[in-house]
Amino acid sequence: MSTRLLIAGAAGRMGHTLVRLARQSADLSLVAAVERAGSPAVGQDVGAVANVGPTGITVQEDLSRALESSQAQVVIDFTHPEASVAHARTCAALGVPLVVGTTGFSPQARAELSACAQRVALVVAPNMSVGVNVVFHMAARLAQVLGEAYDVEVLEVHHRRKKDAPSGTALRLAEGVAQALGRTPDSLTLARQGMVGERTTTEIGVQALRGGDVVGEHTVFFLGEGERVELTHRATSRDPFGLGALRAARWVVGRPAGLYDMADVLGMRS
Ligand code: NAD
Repeated sequence: MSTRLLIAGAAGRMGHTLVRLARQSADLSLVAAVERAGSPAVGQDVGAVANVGPTGITVQEDLSRALESSQAQVVIDFTHPEASVAHARTCAALGVPLVVGTTGFSPQARAELSACAQRVALVVAPNMSVGVNVVFHMAARLAQVLGEAYDVEVLEVHHRRKKDAPSGTALRLAEGVAQALGRTPDSLTLARQGMVGERTTTEIGVQALRGGDVVGEHTVFFLGEGERVELTHRATSRDPFGLGALRAARWVVGRPAGLYDMADVLGMRS
């Protein structure tokens, strides 16, 4: 029997991707969709909103009512930090597990998500791509095996419209390597310009390129004497984030209350 899924933020970029991928999934049934109050999508067929043809599912603006009427078993939310926290509270009150892909939570919002996770299973991950999460895991493992003899540098490439640099994924990669090597986040070097002197043995450089329509590329370089190892991830569409979120949704149904991330979903918790 397929799992009944509700998508929050259905009219957004990730919402469109999720509606299309959920409709193609054999073991998930899209049964409801919500958007912010006042969105032009409210009252429309979510299939028309996401350009996938009619679905018979009307976009609603109240999560609690949508959950009750649809009997959804799991929610995927790619919205806005405040909305995601409100949705987590609703899901905790109704006992419906939730997958949150939204980024940019303040420490206080994170604490609120943790409080909700005491009552319901919650997966929160700033990058839902299965490939990227495997790269997080492998980069830390490579750092442990290669050790101090290899200098580590992270390079990321994104489209010209990206506003923040370096990407959160590049920072997470560098922090994971730092942790694996027993170093603090202070060891990250986010820019080099002018007479910076010789590279220290403990720094981890993080650099960003911008241009064109690059969805997202990340490479971790392990630079040794006479050889180098490069670990690269390239995203060519938003589908990996959506597919990862659907995988998390399948995984979280029936789990005990708790705060999980993609390492749990993928069985990579070390
Ligand atoms: P977007 O702005 O295109 O879509 C967000 C949607 O959420 C909008 O349609 C908006 O109307 C809706 N929304 C806002 N408040 C709402 C509410 N209270 N109830 C229901 N819907 C509401 O943004 P996007 O590119 O789809 O990204 C959404 C979030 O996901 C961002 O925080 C982004 O950084 C994050 N993101 C995460 C991953 C990941 O892998 N975890 C990947 C891509 C994007």
